[in-house]
Amino acid sequence: MIIVSNLCYHETRKAEGMTTAIFPGSFDPVTNGHLDILKRGSEIFDKVIIAIAYNSEKHSFLPIEVRKQLLEECVRDLDNVVVESFYGLTVDFARKNGASVILRGLRNSKDFEYEKEIEGVNKSLNSRIHTVYLCANPEFNYISSSAVREILLHKGDISGFVPKNVAEYLIKNIK
Ligand code: ADP
Repeated sequence: MIIVSNLCYHETRKAEGMTTAIFPGSFDPVTNGHLDILKRGSEIFDKVIIAIAYNSEKHSFLPIEVRKQLLEECVRDLDNVVVESFYGLTVDFARKNGASVILRGLRNSKDFEYEKEIEGVNKSLNSRIHTVYLCANPEFNYISSSAVREILLHKGDISGFVPKNVAEYLIKNIK
């Protein structure tokens, strides 16, 4: 397990060559918390691929094409970030895309316990792909996609939780 802060990120870079990270998740919808991890990841790694997972267990809130479109709008200014969707194992997606790192965010001890388990599975499937965690910024610590969905359901104000384009889309399209 590797947890980095912005202060020691150079230690995670390879001495030579390019390091590509994937940032997998549901992004249903993308939040300010996701974007904070992503922006910091794009400063650490040469390339970051946002990998939107088709999740067979979860019934999704937004169609995957919409999640992808919203994310693309959010990362337009980050020239080393691309958005893809995938079905299957995260480590296989990473390997096929030349990525050696899985980037994830940690908000609390519950995230930590969950992530540790997933990391163990991924490591046993492919030991050459490493998971790197960034701790959530305190100002985004309480934000989750599920909280956004719940607030929206009860017609609350989501403007502090998601980027402007996402808030506009949700308010217009989700009744
Ligand atoms: P998943 O369904 O795989 O957990 P999510 O879209 O919920 O996908 O989250 C993707 C990643 O972003 C996870 O590593 C998660 O911990 C992280 N994340 C989610 N919300 C935040 C936040 N507010 N701050 C930091 N990281 C977050």
